[in-house]
Amino acid sequence: MKSLLAASALVLIVGSCAGAGMGGSTTTSGPVTPTTSTTSPPPTSSTAPATTSTTALATTSTTTGEPLAGRTVVLDPGHNGMNWAHPEEINRQVDIGTGVKACNTTGTSTEDGYAEASFTWEVAQRTVPLLEALGATVLLTRSDNEGWGPCITERAALGNEAGADVAISIHADGGAAEGRGFHVIYPPVVDGLTDDIAEDSQRLAETLHAAYQATGMPIADYIADGGFSVRDDLGGLTLSDVPVVFLEAGNMRNVEDAALLGDADFQQLIAEAITEAVVTFLETTP
Ligand code: ZN
Repeated sequence: MKSLLAASALVLIVGSCAGAGMGGSTTTSGPVTPTTSTTSPPPTSSTAPATTSTTALATTSTTTGEPLAGRTVVLDPGHNGMNWAHPEEINRQVDIGTGVKACNTTGTSTEDGYAEASFTWEVAQRTVPLLEALGATVLLTRSDNEGWGPCITERAALGNEAGADVAISIHADGGAAEGRGFHVIYPPVVDGLTDDIAEDSQRLAETLHAAYQATGMPIADYIADGGFSVRDDLGGLTLSDVPVVFLEAGNMRNVEDAALLGDADFQQLIAEAITEAVVTFLETTP
């Protein structure tokens, strides 16, 4: 019963995120329906009730082999589908501790017009059930792809207030068209700001970097250093009190990367890689 309440609370939290944006009448979320998962972890015992719904059971069990039981994961699908229509709100300057930045940005898109906001939303939708099936409580920083915001400050605050174990911000880059590949961004030590999470965030970055290579996306050849970037100018990183990274899943402006990033099967591979990284990271996190 507790778990059902928790799940309901989760929905409410998520639902409130876009409250500042649209009228709230939209009921359809992203166009991609998560496919039937063929990658659910094998049950490690035969004691689990034979039910088809793994998510409904996910948070009830703390005694079976669910590696993420009791863990809270924040997924931050970067940007939002209607940010472009709200320039004043989005461009409002917010304090990120190391400077000021825009509340949010529109994000990039592929040459064909596939928006980063749609991509990040769809990847998040695919990742949620995978994490929940392993016992995690998953929080999203926005409830759909039809609104604007929230600001990066609010996105970071969600993980902080929930006392999340880990936060992953999902993005894809808008680099030069010749450049290919993914990179992972983590915060440096900034005294009084990230000194408490920098080390774990770097470890999370290394874990995600390793797991993500299973997707087949190459390591970025046009930015970052071997697929790693350290930045103190991203509010999602500087304002976080929980281990956090940005995944730049590929370069949307590159034709080859764009074909992958827009492909449903590839998005599923990304979701699996994120899930794998979370499990691996938290295995060694007290
Ligand atoms: Zn982005």
